[in-house]
Amino acid sequence: MPPTRMPVVVGNWKMNFDHLEATYFIQKLAWTLRDVHFDNRRCEIALLPSFTSLRSVQVLVEADRLPLTYGAQSVSVTTQGAFTGDISADMLARLGCTYVLVGHSERRKYHPEDDANIVDQVRAVLAAGMHPILCVGESFEERRQGIALDFAVGQVSDVTRDLSDEQTSHMLIAYEPVWAIGTGMVATPQSAQDAARAIRDHVRSTFDETVASSVRVLYGGSVTSRDVAQLIEQPDIDGFLVGGASLDVDEFTSIARLTE
Ligand code: PGA
Repeated sequence: MPPTRMPVVVGNWKMNFDHLEATYFIQKLAWTLRDVHFDNRRCEIALLPSFTSLRSVQVLVEADRLPLTYGAQSVSVTTQGAFTGDISADMLARLGCTYVLVGHSERRKYHPEDDANIVDQVRAVLAAGMHPILCVGESFEERRQGIALDFAVGQVSDVTRDLSDEQTSHMLIAYEPVWAIGTGMVATPQSAQDAARAIRDHVRSTFDETVASSVRVLYGGSVTSRDVAQLIEQPDIDGFLVGGASLDVDEFTSIARLTE
């Protein structure tokens, strides 16, 4: 990975931790980071709590100037008005969010989030000055058919097609094969690298070298501290999107330390 791209470990808490548990986790994380060797100039740690915990996370991070960034797991595509239950990108930006996860396979599966909606979410996040983390990745069936890379690259293409160089350079792309999420099955370093390279090559051919070398491409899917050392050695993998293992402070800290 070139030194211009700072590696990042993103904890996707999904629907876990209420605001008290989130507070406890952040305090424990801050304490743990004091003790273990961790250099936040060499690796960024980001957390994606549920909406109800964001304000608590913001207060802790700002009050103690913790070396953490954070964001949301989803966003509404509308800016304001009669949209009961929705949360706008501006609301998230006002809470100090840096990132918003877009197009996670669980959102694509359990909510009516199609490509058009995902493009609108990306635009909303960018317009509010935050960075979308776009999730892409094939199912087991697509892998079996030998079309895994085409599928993941196609998802990137569907979203970035009408974006500008500037907009795309603010994105992060998480390659998360659906068959690896929450299953304990991790992509091999070579297949994760192949997908990350295919995604970066696509960005290069659609935009240019500057955009391709600034977009951070993450791997996600059953990441634990066991696998990260080999994965982060791959030249096109710039960090991780971590689900289950981000719920354990010690494990999450180990992942960050091995990624720096
Ligand atoms: P996992 O989840 O690490 O538990 O597989 C990753 C994700 O869904 O982002």
